[in-house]
Amino acid sequence: MPELPEVEVTRLSFAERIAGAQVVAVRVGAPLRWPLGCRPANLIGRTVGAVTRRGKYLWLPLEGHAQSRGGLLLHLGMSGSLAFNAAERTTAAGRHDHFDLVTTRGVLRLTDPRRFGAVVWSAAIDTAPATTLLARLGYEPFDAALTPSTFHAALRRRRTAVKTALLAGDIVVGAGNIYACEALFAAGIDPRVRCDRLSRPRAERLLASVRATLARALELGGSSLRDFRDTHGIDGAYQLEAQVYGREGHPCQRCGGSVRRIVQAQRSTFFCPRCQKR
Ligand SMILES: [Zn+2]
Repeated sequence: MPELPEVEVTRLSFAERIAGAQVVAVRVGAPLRWPLGCRPANLIGRTVGAVTRRGKYLWLPLEGHAQSRGGLLLHLGMSGSLAFNAAERTTAAGRHDHFDLVTTRGVLRLTDPRRFGAVVWSAAIDTAPATTLLARLGYEPFDAALTPSTFHAALRRRRTAVKTALLAGDIVVGAGNIYACEALFAAGIDPRVRCDRLSRPRAERLLASVRATLARALELGGSSLRDFRDTHGIDGAYQLEAQVYGREGHPCQRCGGSVRRIVQAQRSTFFCPRCQKR
């Protein structure tokens, strides 16, 4: 599943190149998670603005004539990828290519075998349906407004296990399964600890660890972008460096004890019971 670092690196891979391009054609393939919400022809003639990211959504502003604003909210779902091909002008699509935005600078294409991805029209990022889709997102991980106190206060209001709260993304977005497991290991916190039982110093350490794991993934993504122009596999590359994720039964690289796997909210959690305290 593409996590926040992959989505951000995807954004970086085409945002500058597509800005200012004009939409010349749109091809909609098999239905995605939600309908487009406008006639594809309505997008033609519009100009692409600055692409931004919120959580795992990308916002592609499309400005039309005379005050006519709007844009597309894109999500990669479970298996989607977005590629901008500057050489393309046509849309000879494969069976998993479900959306093409053909512009004067190239084709932006969503490929998504499992079709949990989405491309949704919204008149603005702060009106429906965008607001509905973005409503439950927590802070961006590097938002300066997310201070250790804010984070600790938000944790105090929840009784769920801390790992589950990180995955839910309603306090802070971006800590997908790999990153949540690794951040908790780095912070020395047992993933089963209830949020409201975490002390302020431990919350502060956890926030710093979430930021460090995501920063490292973005760094790996940055190098893959430079070397391969390919945003795939950042989470996989990060996993190669993982201390606990995917390492059930292997020795903990810090204490030599055995890494354990448990299931929390239907997702695997990997942790070291010796290094991570309750
Ligand atoms: Zn250990």
